[in-house]
Amino acid sequence: MNFFDKLKEYKKTLAEIENSVYGNKQDYLEIYERNLELEKEIAARTQELNIANKRMLTLQHIWEMMNSSRPLESVLETIVNSLQGELGYLHSTILRKQTDEKGDFMTVIAEADNSVIKRVNSIIQIPMQMRRLNYFEDGFYAKSLNEKKIVTVKDIAEALRGIIPDLPEDVFKKVMGGMRSKLLIVIPLYTRNKPFGLFCVFSSRDELAESETDFLTIFAQQIEMAITIADLFQAVREQAITDGLTGLYNRRYFEEYISKEVTRSLRQNQPFSVIGIDLDFLKKINDEHGHAYGDLAIKTVADVLKTNARSIDVAARMGGEEFNILLPGIDSKGALTAAERIRKAIEGRELDSIGHITASIGVATFLEHSDNLEDLLELTDQAMYMSKRRGRNRVTVAKPVSETSWQEVAVNTFLDILSKHNVPIENNLLDDLTSRLANVKEQQSETPKETLYSVADMLTKTYNPLHETGVVKSKVLLASSLAKRFDLPKEEVDKLKIAVLLYDIGNLMLPKEILQKAAPLTDDERRHIQEHPIIAARDILKPISYIQDIIPIVEHHHENWDGSGYPGKISKDEIPITSQIILIVDAYFALTEHRPYRAKLSPVEALIEIKKDTGKKWSEALVQEFVTLIGHDLN
Ligand code: GH3
Ligand code: MG
Repeated sequence: MNFFDKLKEYKKTLAEIENSVYGNKQDYLEIYERNLELEKEIAARTQELNIANKRMLTLQHIWEMMNSSRPLESVLETIVNSLQGELGYLHSTILRKQTDEKGDFMTVIAEADNSVIKRVNSIIQIPMQMRRLNYFEDGFYAKSLNEKKIVTVKDIAEALRGIIPDLPEDVFKKVMGGMRSKLLIVIPLYTRNKPFGLFCVFSSRDELAESETDFLTIFAQQIEMAITIADLFQAVREQAITDGLTGLYNRRYFEEYISKEVTRSLRQNQPFSVIGIDLDFLKKINDEHGHAYGDLAIKTVADVLKTNARSIDVAARMGGEEFNILLPGIDSKGALTAAERIRKAIEGRELDSIGHITASIGVATFLEHSDNLEDLLELTDQAMYMSKRRGRNRVTVAKPVSETSWQEVAVNTFLDILSKHNVPIENNLLDDLTSRLANVKEQQSETPKETLYSVADMLTKTYNPLHETGVVKSKVLLASSLAKRFDLPKEEVDKLKIAVLLYDIGNLMLPKEILQKAAPLTDDERRHIQEHPIIAARDILKPISYIQDIIPIVEHHHENWDGSGYPGKISKDEIPITSQIILIVDAYFALTEHRPYRAKLSPVEALIEIKKDTGKKWSEALVQEFVTLIGHDLN
């Protein structure tokens, strides 16, 4: 092979190599281009996913905030803040268009939190969020909202002057001096097809790119969605906490609110008051004019409450014709004034056909009358019932629990028994007793204690005609003297006094044939006469909330020291000492009174009988103290 041949061959080989390299190069290019496209697609998909994710997050955010009952404003603030730093946006804010008697205006309902707005606010002094912003029909805000389109404004100064026309020139110049924004983008906001306001974005670039329009439109849709959801939530929440007939809060809301108020009140050592209102004679209105008029009366009271309540007061319909108002921070003096104003306002309304209506009102104050919520509501109720008893259409302020004397408790108890239970006594007597007790309550009785004893005597006479007037008083005095010998504290002695008045109250419910039977009782009758009064007493006293700690004393006043008594068959120190005192005092008076089946005993004879049952009915110690006590009297 000569040199040229070799050269030819090399050339060929070179061409072949070149060819193959070129071919490969084509392949590589194709792969490279394909990869490039793939990457683009991935980027686009990722972008879509990101957007979808962000939307989901925003929705989730809205949902969480709604559930945690945060107001719409904070949801919107989160949304506008999420725009911060995107696409060179410097600031964004949401304006709501409103109308009042002075015309159209705008308010900031959300704004991004950043140095731009901080600077502006510090210069203009009254922050944007607190200002009534000008809205003029021929301006670009109105144009955007009316024409439902995005409007851009390059003249930021004009935009600012437009909404705050009265800003002093030097202040205005200062604001504009540091302004980096080159473009204001105004996007209309509509919720449920109604104009809501404007979404304003301040851009660092002076042109709006095509793609930005889409982006901001989608963003505005999120804002619209948040507002719509918030409105729906608000409507649902209002339905759940308001009363359908009156539009006042309902019981559920009141109870929720007041328990929070208790915490606040205790923490800040600040009182709050509750006014309880009950419409008078609603049943009569219903009967005479029909249910619709009854409803009208209820709505009228609700209306008075709405007009008379301060914005922080919570007025609620607790059910039927019963209303409560919670007055945060108000003591009983203030609450009395408010209650009296409400009473007068109710009385002052004139209703179609019905004429005037009235209500009975009770007032109680937390920390003043009680620092226990349950007791406070009970006291409000009691005060309200007191107003009813005193003749309706009046206000009664509760008494602090500690100030309530045993006589007052007893008077209330008798009144409750007489009004709430169908005690089988004659109407005349019922009216007489009720009015005498009511006089004691209203402090119109000269001799409150004596009246109380005499009412108890008269009640006892209805089931025991042989009962002597004055015995109740003697029993109370004897029982309390005996209690003092056992060093019982005053509260216990007071409870005992009330229990002495009440322990046989169940007899009111006994059939008269058995009670007044002259012949010896059969076993059945005896069992009946033994058990029934205890059961009846328990039934009668149980609904009366403020004497719950007196019921056990009453319930055990027939238990014997050795466990042979009833109804619990308990013995010795299991029996309350107050119940034992009643047992022995009752026995003494029974023995010294005349009975159909035996003559009455003298005090000494009675003491001898009592001594016989030492260790059986009563303890040695009790008998000893009792004999000493009576002995003093006898000497
Ligand atoms: P008092 O002065 O003692 O309060 O007498 P009153 O008739 O108002 O009270 P009472 O508790 O005896 O009767 C209440 C009546 O209120 C009985 C009930 O039918 C009626 N009532 C309860 N809720 C409504 C209501 O929503 N609409 C109407 N029209 N009546 C109601
Ligand atoms: Mg009523």
